[in-house]
Amino acid sequence: MSLDENIARVQECIAAAALTSGRKPEAITFMAVTKTFPPEQIRQAYDAGIRVFGENRVQEFAGKSKAVRDLARAEWHMIGHLQSNKAAKALELFGHIDSLDSVRLARKLNDVASQLNKRISVLIEINVGGEDVKSGVSPDSQELQDLLKAAPELPFLDFRGLMTVPPYSADPEQSRPYFRKMRELFEQIARREWSALNMEVLSMGMSHDFEIAIEEGATCVRVGTAIFGERPKRN
Ligand SMILES: *Cc1c(COP(=O)(O)O)cnc(C)c1O
Repeated sequence: MSLDENIARVQECIAAAALTSGRKPEAITFMAVTKTFPPEQIRQAYDAGIRVFGENRVQEFAGKSKAVRDLARAEWHMIGHLQSNKAAKALELFGHIDSLDSVRLARKLNDVASQLNKRISVLIEINVGGEDVKSGVSPDSQELQDLLKAAPELPFLDFRGLMTVPPYSADPEQSRPYFRKMRELFEQIARREWSALNMEVLSMGMSHDFEIAIEEGATCVRVGTAIFGERPKRN
């Protein structure tokens, strides 16, 4: 199958999952995750209608970004763990940091963004399965509470929602309880009167489980393998 066909197929599945759960297909953002793939394929996805792209390494995207700079209205999202010392470089490359996972990183990003006088949109990454190997803050952690409390003091960060990667299982149904828990947390935070967050984005669901994520309330799905094929292994 060609990239165009894969994209069309995923778009159909997104629309079908939205409709079965009584939602509008346009309410779901289709992010193409382009990590490990070259600029030519990013461009091809863009030509097929994709406007939102996710990359997980600053260094890698620094090498590719020049070749895709001209793509009008494309959005570049950082979706991988970001070290504070790469905050400045990340803000040169990305308008969206979807993997905010500490107060320390939030403060650093706000400082750099204020120097650049550039507002940046952020999602808080939640480690919904509490896995040691994953980044993100735990749903019931003090760090999450501290982040929510710090948000109003960080005027250059536009807190727009939550992102998560649940524990992997070959059976996508296993992701459902985690997605449901994310939806509850999302609504809980949105209800808080003092909240400085515009809770609009719930980014969850990848190639193997995005339909279930949509059924459970995802507003953005992040799809790599299902459109570009298997990624080359890297270490
Ligand atoms: C790689 C990656 C994806 C895409 O995963 P696929 O299984 O290839 O669709 C989504 N989200 C994050 C955070 C990733 O790192």
